Amino acid sequence: MNRTYDVCIIGGGASGLAAAVYIKQKNNGISVAILERLNRVGKKLITTGNGRCNITNTDEAISHYHGEDPAFALYALKKYGNGAIKDFFFSLGVPLFADDTGRMYPLSLQASSVVDALRFSASALGVDIFTECEVTDVRFGEKGNVLKTTAGDFTALNVIFAAGLYSGGAKLGCDGKALGLLKSKGFKTVKTTPAIVQVKTENAVTRQLKGIKVNAAAALVIDGNEVRSEVGEVLFCDYGLSGPPVLQIAREIERRNGYKLIRLDLMPNKSINEVLNLLFDLKKVLFYRNLDEYLSGLLNKRLGQVIVKAAGMGLSQPVSSLDESGIKRIAGIIKNFEFKAISTAGFDNSQVTAGGLDTSAFDPQTLMSKSFKNVYAIGEILDIDGDCGGYNLHFAFSSAFCAADSIIKGCCYDKA
Ligand SMILES: Cc1cc2nc3c(=O)[nH]c(=O)nc-3n(C[C@H](O)[C@H](O)[C@H](O)COP(=O)(O)OP(=O)(O)OC[C@H]3O[C@@H](n4cnc5c(N)ncnc54)[C@H](O)[C@@H]3O)c2cc1C
Repeated sequence: MNRTYDVCIIGGGASGLAAAVYIKQKNNGISVAILERLNRVGKKLITTGNGRCNITNTDEAISHYHGEDPAFALYALKKYGNGAIKDFFFSLGVPLFADDTGRMYPLSLQASSVVDALRFSASALGVDIFTECEVTDVRFGEKGNVLKTTAGDFTALNVIFAAGLYSGGAKLGCDGKALGLLKSKGFKTVKTTPAIVQVKTENAVTRQLKGIKVNAAAALVIDGNEVRSEVGEVLFCDYGLSGPPVLQIAREIERRNGYKLIRLDLMPNKSINEVLNLLFDLKKVLFYRNLDEYLSGLLNKRLGQVIVKAAGMGLSQPVSSLDESGIKRIAGIIKNFEFKAISTAGFDNSQVTAGGLDTSAFDPQTLMSKSFKNVYAIGEILDIDGDCGGYNLHFAFSSAFCAADSIIKGCCYDKA
């Protein structure tokens, strides 16, 4: 079998599949192979967005991206904004729509339809897909790169590293070995940590509240400084805290030293004074009841009882016995319910990896290595990670298209 290609793509995930399809759509004469270590392509993609695949977002601000140099992503994100991503998927028969928060999904609301569209298009366009084919080594050379794999050797003029990193864990193909491989070739890397991930806290309280969801503002506080805060539905778990705002603020937990807290504001739409006034008024109305019922019209009943106890009072105490300092303590906890953060729930539970290949070694317009001609890196393997909301898939696709453009240009020139 001829195993020489114009392009070999390492990894058949979001970015690798998109790069392959895009190259063939624009120039079908370019030979493209995808080398995927798992027995199927798109295994992570199929799990995204709770099986619904949140592909991009109508809010395209660069502030949703992180890394040592988030501006590295700017060129790709601007060149291929959400309109371009929408057009690309429409060309595969997958129209996208935006929900009322701006998150964009396939109309089918099925990630499987996105994976199918990519892999069927790749096959129809003549991309050769090799599964159970793990790339274990690469020898770079100007006239061709040799890839050693568990299924034999391949030669390619262009190599795209689209191998992802650790998020979702090894079952989704992500063990970071490709990063190690590039490191051994002299590429610099930035410390990798889980992001968009649940938080483990000192959990006696969260365990008591397990299963309860509250609308709250969640803030990550390190050594007394608020690092980031997000509002949304927080979920109490036996290990700690989850829910969209918690996932969103977790990024710095394993990147920074210091004393870390997750601080919940359980009434984010009210000031402390408004909460105090409400509690004084409730005391008047509920004077004949006990404290176990005092907060049950304001908050989840079990949560209200935990707060009363945390404020140092007994549940069988009459509401009428509450003094001003007791009310202030309760109001303080409602506005600042604090949990000591121990760690994140790890890479296996994370949706993205912060850190990765140092972007300064790559051209932001082409994603080509500055040291090795025709060697590209796209998607999550780079030190760029986005917020929850479609930002990571968006970068996977836009970086794929930029690398693809460069390869198409290079192949036309080389073949002329
Ligand atoms: C549960 C979950 C939900 C998510 N939901 C969303 C969402 O809704 N929206 C969003 O924007 N982002 C989401 N993400 C993040 C998003 O899936 C990733 O950022 C994106 O898939 C990265 O694309 P990629 O192509 O860089 O890597 P991947 O999609 O991870 O693909 C990498 C591929 O390379 C293969 N591979 C690795 N090493 C080798 C090797 N040596 N040889 C051959 N093949 C190799 C892997 O098996 C894998 O198939 C989610 C992630 C998870 C885990």
